[in-house]
Amino acid sequence: MLQQHAITVRDVSGTWVLPIRVSARARRVFFAASASRGIELVVPRGADLRGLEALVEAHRDWLERRRAEYAEAARPIQPPERIALGTPKATYTVQYRSVPGARSRLREPEPGRLVFEGDRADPIAVARVFQAWLKAQARAVLPPLLETVAAGTGLSYRHCRIRLTRSRWGSCSRRRCIMLSASLLFLPEELVRHVMVHELCHTHHMNHSPAFWALVARHDPQWRSLRRRMREAGRTRVPSWVYR
Ligand SMILES: [Zn+2]
Repeated sequence: MLQQHAITVRDVSGTWVLPIRVSARARRVFFAASASRGIELVVPRGADLRGLEALVEAHRDWLERRRAEYAEAARPIQPPERIALGTPKATYTVQYRSVPGARSRLREPEPGRLVFEGDRADPIAVARVFQAWLKAQARAVLPPLLETVAAGTGLSYRHCRIRLTRSRWGSCSRRRCIMLSASLLFLPEELVRHVMVHELCHTHHMNHSPAFWALVARHDPQWRSLRRRMREAGRTRVPSWVYR
């Protein structure tokens, strides 16, 4: 049955609720699955909601598989014991020191070892501290890398900003300002470069026209396979504390 913002799905494992998200950005109806939000049915604003149940019916197998995958990912965040970055390739072990009442902070007494001081029992405080650390790493690493990629391709931009975005790896404004997500650090460098080339090509074409893809192909001949790997990477490589 169709409720205002959800569809109740009945299957062999029982009954569950598929949330519907109305999106101003969406151009068509599609299923979205992410570690942070689980599975949703995304519909463009003003879309005709009739027929959605048939769509759910037609994708039942796919939904069941994803639902099993994300049941694990949707659990409350665990403070990380280990952080693995792809760019630059680095692994950090994390230790926790309980300091009641103290403002939470993260120290790096030696390369590869992080020490969290503060209240470990507060998952939001823990997440904030690791997010701030990730953004600082990203600010040090991503802008110089973007400069290198820009120089290598001959594509220029005006400014680079780092943010912690939920739904996008990067974007490019009409004023040729490029935004990069700090989550890119979890990806291997070839995927980070792939995102950077994509956004740099938007400095010439503010769309996904054939001319845009031709420019991408010139600077990133493997873009099709890399793009497929990006979808997988978003689900599997970015830990849940990044988005809390
Ligand atoms: Zn694009």
